Amino acid sequence: MIFRKFINSITANVLANGPQLRFMSTMKNEKIGIIGSGLIGRAWSMLFASVGYKVMLYDILPEQTSNALKEIEKELHALHAKGALRGTLSPAEQFSSISITTDIGELVSNAIYLQECIPERLEWKCALYTQLADIVCAETIMASSTSTYMPSLFSEQMKACRENVVVAHPLNPPYYIPLVEIVPASWTKAAVVTRTRELMLEIGQKPVTLTREIEGFATNRIQYAILNEVWRLVADGVVSVVDVDRVVTEGLGLRYALLGPLETAHLNADGVADYFQRFGAEVYAVSQTYGPTPKMEAGATLSKIAAECEEMVPRTQLQTRRAQRDRFLRELCTLKKQLE
Ligand code: NAD
Repeated sequence: MIFRKFINSITANVLANGPQLRFMSTMKNEKIGIIGSGLIGRAWSMLFASVGYKVMLYDILPEQTSNALKEIEKELHALHAKGALRGTLSPAEQFSSISITTDIGELVSNAIYLQECIPERLEWKCALYTQLADIVCAETIMASSTSTYMPSLFSEQMKACRENVVVAHPLNPPYYIPLVEIVPASWTKAAVVTRTRELMLEIGQKPVTLTREIEGFATNRIQYAILNEVWRLVADGVVSVVDVDRVVTEGLGLRYALLGPLETAHLNADGVADYFQRFGAEVYAVSQTYGPTPKMEAGATLSKIAAECEEMVPRTQLQTRRAQRDRFLRELCTLKKQLE
């Protein structure tokens, strides 16, 4: 009898307060600190809030944090209206889990994980990590969004806790491109790498883990190899700027959104071993003709590239084109999810 009363009262409660109970069941108590409230800091805040983490956003400029908060609120509602909001919480619920501070002590207090997103200036990052070493608690993970600096470069001089520093490098825009590169320094604890990877999976990102740090990580090493050859082809007058981009947008890129280069090879022959047996020598022979790494400085080639890019997308139209890119990526992600 008592048990039935209990069940009835829960049922009545769920019927009366459904959304609120859902809210309570999916919000988390753990706190994530975001350092730097620019483009990337705002994106990480939304990603962590999408699964109910308590997010605190910190910046040295007070107006940056308050602007970021306004932007985030607008963005969450806009995403909801487009049906592109991540997670199961409403925009209001997600927004309510994000707070701001300009006090770094308040930021790190009880944070399980800090995602650093300050500008790409090594001396600024070094100063910040030196400061963090004095104030973080021993378990807090410190992950940098850096696109270029190996973690040893800004964590080596830390007096404490450098084993908790790792790179978690997103691609822009992180809300639509799920890849995150996790890059440890030689002193990073294995548990820090594992926990960061778990967190990335939990917020719906797709992490890759490098076993050691290397200049450019994996993404930029591959991206720069492409840029080098694109530059050489344009510099040598072999192909126009529009056409060289078309090689990717209408060719390679279409299949790369589904298959990586190795799976592409695997499917283009009777397996990847057969592919390299048949085409390995050809790949090598063409690669031998690439020429030296170009210096991408001001000069005739850059002027040509800039002029043709300006014709493709005038700088006044960059914002429109970015919005188009985001819509495309959103739809592509939906398509990929359906295929999975
Ligand atoms: P941003 O310039 O948009 O924002 C940086 C923010 O950090 C600013 O609000 C600034 O006031 C704040 N800041 C500066 N010094 C600070 C400090 N000591 N403590 C706290 N806040 C501070 O920069 P972003 O584009 O968001 O880039 C942030 C990081 O993310 C960089 O390391 C960058 O390499 C990396 N990243 C950027 C992109 C991209 O496309 N923008 C992509 C991947 C990774």
